Amino acid sequence: MNSSETIKKKLKDVFHFDSFRGDQQAIVEGVLQGQSALVLMPTGMGKSLCYQLPSTLLANLTIVVSPLIALMQDQVDQAMAKGIPAVAIHSGVSKEEREQRYRELMAGQHRLLYVTPERFKKLEFLQAIGQRKIDLLAVDEAHCISQWGHDFRPEYSRLGEIRRQLGSPTTLALTATATLQVQREIQESLGIETAPIFHSGIRRPNLSLQVHDIYGLDEKIRGLVGLHFQNPGATIVYHSLITTLYKVSEELSRLGIEHLVYHGQLSAAERKRQQRLFLSEESSLILATPAFGLGIDKYDVRLLVHMEVPGSLESYYQEVGRAGRDGKSAQCHLFFDDDDVSIQVEFLKWANPEPEFILNVFYLIESAGPKLANDGIDFLRTQMNFYNRRDFRVETSLNLLERWGAIEPDKSRLGFRAIQPPAKEFLEALRVADRPKTMNRKLLSLVEWVKNTDSCRALRIYEYFAHQDVACGLCDVCLSQARKADD
Ligand code: ADP
Ligand code: MG
Repeated sequence: MNSSETIKKKLKDVFHFDSFRGDQQAIVEGVLQGQSALVLMPTGMGKSLCYQLPSTLLANLTIVVSPLIALMQDQVDQAMAKGIPAVAIHSGVSKEEREQRYRELMAGQHRLLYVTPERFKKLEFLQAIGQRKIDLLAVDEAHCISQWGHDFRPEYSRLGEIRRQLGSPTTLALTATATLQVQREIQESLGIETAPIFHSGIRRPNLSLQVHDIYGLDEKIRGLVGLHFQNPGATIVYHSLITTLYKVSEELSRLGIEHLVYHGQLSAAERKRQQRLFLSEESSLILATPAFGLGIDKYDVRLLVHMEVPGSLESYYQEVGRAGRDGKSAQCHLFFDDDDVSIQVEFLKWANPEPEFILNVFYLIESAGPKLANDGIDFLRTQMNFYNRRDFRVETSLNLLERWGAIEPDKSRLGFRAIQPPAKEFLEALRVADRPKTMNRKLLSLVEWVKNTDSCRALRIYEYFAHQDVACGLCDVCLSQARKADD
C-alpha cells in the first residue's frame, strides 16, 4: 500500500518538487488504487506527473500513448534524467534498435513506455508487451479521440479496443481542452464512463487576449513589428498559410529583424534545428504554422501573434496556451481580417478529402515513379488535378496517411515513402457525415467570439468549455471597458 507519505517522498526525491499542483495528488493516489480518471488540466500545469509518478511505484509497466513522435523523445529523456527507466518505440528508430527495445521490454526492463497508437497494430510490439503486465495506460492528448475535437486522429478511436485487449488496466486520459461533448466521447470510447473527471479549469489568468481588426497583410506586418519592439521576449507568430509566412519573413528580413521559420514543408532535420534554436535563445522570434509549439517545453514565450484567424476556439485557445507557461504575463494578439475567414472556409472545404482521393495519393506514392522523385508534392498535385492554390487535399492526405502508418518520412523529394495501404477502418471513419458541418459551426463560434466586444474574451472561452469564472481584466474588451469607466 502506498501511503501519502510514500507518494510525497517520491515527489521530492524523484521530481524534486515540494508540493503537488492542483489535483495531482488525488489523481496519483487514485491511480495507485486502481482508479481510472479523465484529467483536464491546462497546458504547463503538470499532466505528465500524473502518470510518471505512479510509474515509479507500480510493480509493472506503464504505457503512455502520445500522438507525436517528436514529443516522445523529450519525455523519455526527462524521465530518464529523473532516473525512471523509460523508452519510446516508434517508426523513427532503426529496426535493429527497435528490436533491441522489444527484447528489453520482454526481459522486464523499463517502467515507462511511450508509443503512438499505431504501434498496437504491429505484431512484434503486441508480442513484446504481451510478456508484461500493464498496470497503467495513460492516453495523453486524449481529445484526439473525439471526432468533434479539433485534432481528431482516427487511430485514437481504437484505443478502447486496445485497452480491452490489454486487460482493461487502470487508465488515465489527459487533455488540456475538451468541451462537455468531447469529455463524454473520451470516456465512452475508452470505456471509463464511471471514472471521475478531474477538472482543473482552463483558466490562464496571465494571458492578455487581444483582437485587432486589421485589413491586409501590410498593416498586419506593421502591427507585428510594433509588437515585436514593445515585447522583447520570446515570440511565436502563427500563420495559417505558408505563403503568408514567407511574405512576412521577407519583410522582416528587409527590416533587418532576425527570426526563425518553422512549417511542415521544411525537412524534419531543418524543423528540429529551428526548434532547437528557438529553445536555446534568450530572446527569439519564430514564424510558424500551428504545428509548432505542441508540447514544446518553452515556458517563457511572452508574445504570441496570430497573423490569420485559426479554425476554431479550440485551436485558438490551445495555441495561445503556449504563451506564458511560466505563469508570468504574456500577450496574445489576433490580427483579424474578414477576408481571412475565407481561408478557413476553404481549409474546411478541403480538410475532408474523399477516401478515394487519399487512396489515389497513396498509390501514386507507392508506385514511386521518377517524376515523383523529381517533383515531389508538385507531381502529386498535378496528378490529382490540383489548380486551386488553396486546395489542400494532397497535404491533408499526406498528413492522414502518415498518421495511419501508410507512409513514413524519408529523405526523398516528397519526404515520404509508402509502407502499406491504409486500413479500411480509417477510411471509413472519414465518412462520418457531420464532420464538415461541425467544423463549420466551430469556425462560426470563433468569428462570433472575435466580433463580440461586449463581454470578456477569456470568460467567453471558459463558457465555451463549460466553465464558470470571472472576467480576466486583461483582454481588449476588459481593458476598453475599464478605460470607459475611467472617463
Ligand atoms: P502539461 O503536460 O500539463 O502541459 P507538463 O507535464 O509538461 O505539463 O509539466 C509542465 C511543467 O510543470 C514541467 O516543467 C513540470 O516539471 C512542472 N511541474 C509539474 N508538476 C509540478 C509540481 N507539482 N510542482 C512544480 N512543478 C511541476
Ligand atoms: Mg503534456
